[in-house]
Amino acid sequence: MTPSIASNPADASIPAPLIQRSLFSRLAPWLVLVAALASTFAVWEVARGNALRLANERFENRVEAVKATLIDRIGVYQQLMRAGGALFAGSDRVSPQAWQRFYDTLRVSESYPGLVGFGYAERVTAQQRDAFIRARTDANDPAFKIWPEGERDEYTAIIFFAPVTSQNKMVYGYDMYADPGRRAAMQRAASSGQTALSGEVSLMQDQFTARAQPGFMIYQPVYRGGVMPAKPADRPAALQGYVYGAFRVQDLMQSMFGQRHDVAVELYDGTLITPQTLLYQAEEKPTRHPRFSAQAPVKLGTHLWTLRVASREPFEAGVRRETPGIIAVSGVAISLLLFALTLTLSRMRERALEIARDMTVTLKENEQRLREITASLGEGVYVKDVDGKVTFVNPEAEKLLGWSAAELLGQDSHLAFHHHRLDGSEYPADECPITQAARRGEAYRGEDYFWHKNGALIPVSITSSPIYRDGELAGAVNVFHDITERRRNEAQLRESEQFRALFEYAREALFLVDVDGFVIDANQIAIESLGCTRAEVVGRAAREFMITAMWSDGGETLAAIPARAGPDAPLIFEGEHVRKDGTRFPVEALFSPIRVGSRDLILIAARDITERKRAEDERRELLAREREAREVAEATQRSLGRSNADLEHFAYAASHDLQEPLRMVTAYNQLLQKKYYGKLDDEANRFIEFSTTGARRMEQLLQALLAYLRVAASDEPAEPVDANRVLTEALNNLQAVTEESGAVITSEPLPQVRVHAVHLLQLFQNLIGNAVKYRSAEVPKIAIAARRDSGTWLFSISDNGIGVDARYTEQIFGIFKRLHGDKYGGTGIGLAICQKIVERYGGRIWVDSAPGRGSVFHFSLPV
Ligand code: ADP
Repeated sequence: MTPSIASNPADASIPAPLIQRSLFSRLAPWLVLVAALASTFAVWEVARGNALRLANERFENRVEAVKATLIDRIGVYQQLMRAGGALFAGSDRVSPQAWQRFYDTLRVSESYPGLVGFGYAERVTAQQRDAFIRARTDANDPAFKIWPEGERDEYTAIIFFAPVTSQNKMVYGYDMYADPGRRAAMQRAASSGQTALSGEVSLMQDQFTARAQPGFMIYQPVYRGGVMPAKPADRPAALQGYVYGAFRVQDLMQSMFGQRHDVAVELYDGTLITPQTLLYQAEEKPTRHPRFSAQAPVKLGTHLWTLRVASREPFEAGVRRETPGIIAVSGVAISLLLFALTLTLSRMRERALEIARDMTVTLKENEQRLREITASLGEGVYVKDVDGKVTFVNPEAEKLLGWSAAELLGQDSHLAFHHHRLDGSEYPADECPITQAARRGEAYRGEDYFWHKNGALIPVSITSSPIYRDGELAGAVNVFHDITERRRNEAQLRESEQFRALFEYAREALFLVDVDGFVIDANQIAIESLGCTRAEVVGRAAREFMITAMWSDGGETLAAIPARAGPDAPLIFEGEHVRKDGTRFPVEALFSPIRVGSRDLILIAARDITERKRAEDERRELLAREREAREVAEATQRSLGRSNADLEHFAYAASHDLQEPLRMVTAYNQLLQKKYYGKLDDEANRFIEFSTTGARRMEQLLQALLAYLRVAASDEPAEPVDANRVLTEALNNLQAVTEESGAVITSEPLPQVRVHAVHLLQLFQNLIGNAVKYRSAEVPKIAIAARRDSGTWLFSISDNGIGVDARYTEQIFGIFKRLHGDKYGGTGIGLAICQKIVERYGGRIWVDSAPGRGSVFHFSLPV
């Protein structure tokens, strides 16, 4: 079977152009016949014209030939007559024997047919007649006489003749002048000096013959002495006699034309065509209606004959043979032959078409059958020709390759779906074993990869078998199927072996359950974790020992795992495992779908999380406690904040309100001093002094307290300030004291800090002021520096002053706390303000110091 393809197997109709051609092929033989007959007719017409012309020419030639033969023959006879005449001219006495010898020598009887008698007649005048007869008689010829009897002015007596036959003997002594016809011819000869032909005469030789033929005479004049007088008038007198030839026209003509059957020759004496003038007529009668006929005058010296020639059957048959009858016949025959040929061809074509149609139908049916067979195979089938072009594709191959048959047909199969190797490199057809085998006409069986239309790889098992048609390699049938599943199973088998090893040697408890939740397998750790034997675990429902929210939805949840979880993203549940003895321990279970062999199972990795739970519980407890403490602290803070605020508010109000009575005390103290100082006793004076000093001190304290309280009052947002600039300002404000003490103040470049400038100013002034104030005996040396310390700027102000006992380094930051109260003036509020400022910005202030070793005050500020 020849596999070939059409889009619709049911469509076996012949296309329209084919039908037109079929119609044409039916008409073609008739067209050929008409054309051939027409051209035959045309050729025949032309050929017929040509043949007729040729026949006419040939006939004319034939007439000319007859005429020429006649003239030639008569010429030959005239020649003979002249030769006879010459015999007389050359000799005085010609004897009968000499004449006979002459006659014999020339073999006249054989060489000159038609010549009945050849002789000589002596001219004898009336005066010479008797003497002449006498002389003849003398010459031992007693019977001689001139005849016919009668008196005439001149006589011509035949004295020699040949051949000597009984008939010829009769002419002896015959006077030819006696016959006017003869005499006229003789006298023409005598006067012209030429041979002359007579008209029709009755030959003396034939006078007793039943079938007398027309005859004629040729005369040659013989002059005395052999010399012909120049003048014609002198010639009759010089005439000695005549050499004559007597001819039977019939015999003569017969000898010339007797063999000619193709034409009929008639000879007439003179120009008139009458039965009387007819000299010769061929024995065979001319055709009744000859197609060709001609008449021609034949001039023989002074005599005129008329020749009539008519075509006879043989000639006409020849012409007919040459006429294009043959052309017509053969033309018609050829036409008919062509007609038959084209008819046969057309029939054959029709038949071929019919066969083609049948074959197409058969082909379609076969193809359909092939399609059906190959469809039921469940294998992809494609057929390719010797060039590797696809000629057939079954639906399975279409499905597997993603190409439709229409797309694949005519395509090079290798280029279509076998163009690249597995690693993505180009795959030349010359290196493809399938293509190679097909080209060599060999079978091939193997596994390979085809490319789906969408670019996916299809592992296939393929069998390629060569197709031979009429002993010639015609292509190959390739049958293939997708072995993805097999490959996958193989991979799975490999994987499952690996899985088994992993399963057993894993350091976690692993359970393999089916989608209904029954344990298929469990590893040693899992079995031991439950205090069971393998037999007690395998086959049990997992939910019996595995208490987890996983089961809350029943088996369906388990079945849904493959959809909801993947090997890399398991579903995680926490729960408890129940040991054989009934004790429980917390577990974290990871549910992953897994395919073992061909089964979809669920792998549960259960982790004992007892430790983790405990740690978590502890942490949770710790966090709770911490939260509690924080809440208490925050509450305390809040209430403290509130009481601080109340306190500050009260202190502020009190300080403020105290100023008024203090001013009154001061005013009255001043009055007392002005009015009674020196007027009372010393004690009174001292009391007044105490009162005044106390009041002033009270005022100082109140001012200091207000200053302290005001620090908290400002809550404007801080802008970055240049600490160097603020330091300069502080040093300016302290100029008097620093100069007085001769202090040496050094500073490193300071940063920008986000604080209110006035606060930084207060910090610098208080601390530098203290460093100067609490100086030792040495010249005070004060250094200011700043460095970054975990998100803050850490300032330091060091001095070489008296220092502070480590016991008091915290106290000194309290309100009104002073260590060196009496010796050094002060309110004991400076450091408290400093602390309040620093803390306001979330910083810290402290001092590193020891008595007599100087002090370093540190404070941190935000960046
Ligand atoms: P005042 O200076 O008005 O006493 P302060 O609050 O400024 O109040 O100081 C508290 C106390 O800290 C001071 O009385 C002093 O005893 C001690 N003090 C402060 N600065 C220094 C310093 N640079 N060297 C030694 N002692 C100091």
